[in-house]
Formats: sequence, structure tokens, C-alpha cells
Amino acid sequence: MTDLSQDAILLLLRASQAFLLAALLDFPTFAWRCRWQPGESCRHAGTGAQTRGDSAAWFCTWLIWILPAGAMVGSAGSMDVTSYLKYAGSVARTATLRKAGFSDRNIRVAIGAGQMRRLRHGVVALPGAAPDLVGAVLANGLLSCGSASTHHRLWRLHQPTALHLLCRHGAAKDVVVHRETVVPQDVPWPVAGLTDVLLHGLRCLPEVEAAIMVESALLQGRTTLDYLRGHLPGNRNGAARRVLDLVDGTAGSPIEVVARLLFRSEGMFVQTQVDLPGIGIVDFLLEGFLIVELDGETHLQPRQVKKDRLRNNASTLDGYAVLRYGYAQVVYNPQKVVDEVWQVLRGRVVR
Ligand SMILES: [Zn+2]
Repeated sequence: MTDLSQDAILLLLRASQAFLLAALLDFPTFAWRCRWQPGESCRHAGTGAQTRGDSAAWFCTWLIWILPAGAMVGSAGSMDVTSYLKYAGSVARTATLRKAGFSDRNIRVAIGAGQMRRLRHGVVALPGAAPDLVGAVLANGLLSCGSASTHHRLWRLHQPTALHLLCRHGAAKDVVVHRETVVPQDVPWPVAGLTDVLLHGLRCLPEVEAAIMVESALLQGRTTLDYLRGHLPGNRNGAARRVLDLVDGTAGSPIEVVARLLFRSEGMFVQTQVDLPGIGIVDFLLEGFLIVELDGETHLQPRQVKKDRLRNNASTLDGYAVLRYGYAQVVYNPQKVVDEVWQVLRGRVVR
């Protein structure tokens, strides 16, 4: 739900609650001015009797006005807390909801209405809450490192097999726990702040996975290499700083990061996103001679196939060699890619 619709719903609820409160406060005047009996219509001051209503009229009016009003306020409260829970990631500790201004009664009514369920003491969720977010809240932590990448709209190659959490205290079973934190939580759902997520990933994940996350954040303009380096001091962070040296913010996709690290690890002279006259921008130029292009799904479209053919021919006419690879080849069979690239670079094409 967007912030705007969230605000609109809250405003509507507050307005209806204010109206009902005004009706309740006005009730004594209403009862005094109205001598209502079952089966009769109400006669107000100026049009009917001015005497105080008897106890039967008071009770009947109570039934007609107060009980529905109470029910509406109750249901408005539960709708409120349900909307908030959705905004907060569909799972939360009840302490979090109380901190947001909801009462235990709001929570109980919503659970009673089947709008949310209690997972265990102190934790509630909406039906269909994401399992990783549920796991984080049940472990009293926040998703971080590789487990938080998609929640921060960062690239990811593989999903970690275990949950990686930022837990200030305690440790749940079968999760990878990170303790250090340098920034507060910056999203309403149970996910660590972006800088914490990146720093945990740089210290914890395989270098290619960490580099992909940081490259993605860099491309979105949400961090800088200098800022991250500033939070990685000393010898113990040497490996994490070396991962930052692999990131340059030029990749158009995660597999371009994988391929760049692959070629650089082989000691090749690698240029990325090079604009060659008459050909256009190529993904990689290796040793100034071999063009390597990585094909996404768009390269299967007829228009793109025609464009690629023209580029390939132009490349060959200009004296370049060209190799093209897809996602599966780069990610699952990198050695074959490296072998073929070396074969071309060394001029050992055997016919
Ligand atoms: Zn981790």
C-alpha cells in the first residue's frame, strides 16, 4: 500500500471516530430533548415534549446509538491496525504495534475477526506474510546481509540457504547472526538499514555476491565506495575492502558483475561498457581486441537479433573477435567461458 492511501485510510478512520465521539458526547442532550418510545418516531425540542426522557427511552436510545457506535469504533480500530501491519511488512511484534499507538484491544479485535493471527506470544502476522520476514521477527531480529537484498531492491545472484539476521541480542537456531550496526532501520518492515546490509554482506558473503549487492546500490546512487570504506577500518576488514575494489558501478546486470570478476581474476585487461565507433557500446573489451557480449532475454527478440547481427558483422569487419554468452553459461559454467576467452586471446583456435 502506498503512503498516500495509508494516510487517506487513517484520515477517514480518525474522522469517523471523531464523528462518533461527538454523537456520544451529545447523547445526554439528545435523550433529554427526545421522548422516544418503541414504535414511535423521535420528537425533538420545538416539535415535541420538553420533559426529560424516561429510563426506557434512555435505554432504547442507548441500544440504538451506543452499541452500533461501539462496534464501528471497534471495527475501525482493527482495520487500522491491520493496515498498519501490512505497511510494516505483514508481521510484527505486538510491542511494535503498541509503540505505533495501537492498544491490546485493537490487536485482540483484529485477531478475533480473523484479520491477523498470533504466531506466538508477542508476534502477529497477516495471512500470507513472507516467510523470511516471519523468520526474522520470530528470531527477534532484522533481515540483513544476503537475506535483505531483495527487500532493499538490490541485485542478488543466489538466495542464501540460511537466514542472515541482524540480532542485537540472543541467537536463533539455524540462522547466521550479525551483531554490528552503524545505521538505524530505514524501512518500516523488519529489515536492517541499507548500510548495515551492505557492510554485513561485504564481511560475510562470497565476494561475487557481495560485489553484486554493492554494485546495485552504487548504480541506484544509494551509497558510495568511500562511505563504505570509511566503515571498514583495520586489518579485520581487509577482505571486505578488497571486494569494494572489484566494484565500479558500470554493470547493466548482475551477470556483468560476475563476468567482470571472472575476467579480472584471470589477469586479463578488462574494459567495460566501451563505446566503439561504428559498433556501439559493448559489454566487455578484453585486451583491446576481444568483444564479449552478455545476452539477456531481450536478445532473443527478432528486432534485437537483427541489431546484434549487424553489430557482430561490424565488429569483425573492424578486426575485433566476438564471443557471446548467456546467464547460465556465465553463472553455472564459468570455466568453459574462461577457456574459450583464453583460446581466442592466445590465438589458438584449432580448426
Ligand atoms: Zn551474512
